[in-house]
Amino acid sequence: MIIVGAGPVGLTLALALAQQDIPVLVLEAEPALAHDLRAGSFHPPTLDMLAPLGVTEEMLARGYKVRRWQFRDRQQGLIVEWDLGLIADATAFPFRFHLEQHRLAHILLGKLQALPHAQVRFSHPVRAVSQDADAVSASCEAPGGAVRFEGRWLIGADGSHSVVRKALDTDFEGFTWPERYVVISIAYDLEQHGFALNTYIADPEEWAGLFKVPHDGAAGLWRIGFPVPKPKATPPRCQRRACRRACGGCCRGATPTKWPTRASTGCTSGWPASGAAGACCSRETPRT
Ligand SMILES: Cc1cc2nc3c(=O)[nH]c(=O)nc-3n(C[C@H](O)[C@H](O)[C@H](O)COP(=O)(O)OP(=O)(O)OC[C@H]3O[C@@H](n4cnc5c(N)ncnc54)[C@H](O)[C@@H]3O)c2cc1C
Repeated sequence: MIIVGAGPVGLTLALALAQQDIPVLVLEAEPALAHDLRAGSFHPPTLDMLAPLGVTEEMLARGYKVRRWQFRDRQQGLIVEWDLGLIADATAFPFRFHLEQHRLAHILLGKLQALPHAQVRFSHPVRAVSQDADAVSASCEAPGGAVRFEGRWLIGADGSHSVVRKALDTDFEGFTWPERYVVISIAYDLEQHGFALNTYIADPEEWAGLFKVPHDGAAGLWRIGFPVPKPKATPPRCQRRACRRACGGCCRGATPTKWPTRASTGCTSGWPASGAAGACCSRETPRT
């Protein structure tokens, strides 16, 4: 079985197949697993699904169980607080679970690498796929030159710009939201201001999503996603203002450089001026 793409979907699929003794080959374009700020929370059905693979158990040792989560209105404050403990009769995992997507990917990769009939090849971008009556093949640009793999089946798990989907001439319906937003992580503790570890703040202009995610040490980081103006505005200043609004002004007076922050581009300290600006100015997020 050839799987194109070592994102969470490709790796989960590979592990599920390999654990049933099916040989798998995962071809990944990048030289290593992605480490960008993407998904950071898992819902009970996902934890239920990953449990038989032995993955949920490892996840639970690394992330945060978030039983309470909130909806807030920017003007009115707290609207509702949900208690997922109430669905304990329906799932073994009655909580949201906060763990960054790249940490899940490493758990999956570690388990795959322990299986002799599973291979993950990085720096192997698939450029073309083809099939005949007996086999399917993937042509890659490997570091040592072009290489072609054959298998009985091939599965495209190569993300939103999927080469496999295009080769199959399959539509990808949906649209791209015109909004742009920044995702940053800060060490400032928002729980002291009454925020649940997962909080959504509603506002037509200045909405925000807050998530506490694990990081080195016990304190963790607070991840905040919030909209930013179009690139023509001055990004660092508008981000600072937007970030203060995102947490209800609780951080007013704090010096941004005192906050350890992390932006989508991997900046690890100081205010995420150029890092986050680069992310918000260059990327529209496709959603379907
Ligand atoms: C900022 C942000 C926040 C998000 N937050 C959430 C969230 O809170 N909850 C949630 O459920 N989802 C969230 N998502 C969405 C989530 O990240 C995606 O749904 C998820 O990454 C999809 O996984 P995937 O494995 O299908 O694709 P990807 O993660 O995109 O992985 C595809 C892989 O295929 C590789 N690839 C691509 N082309 C080729 C090729 N030709 N040959 C070989 N390899 C190739 C890529 O390098 C990549 O490693 C978020 C996304 C973003 C951008």
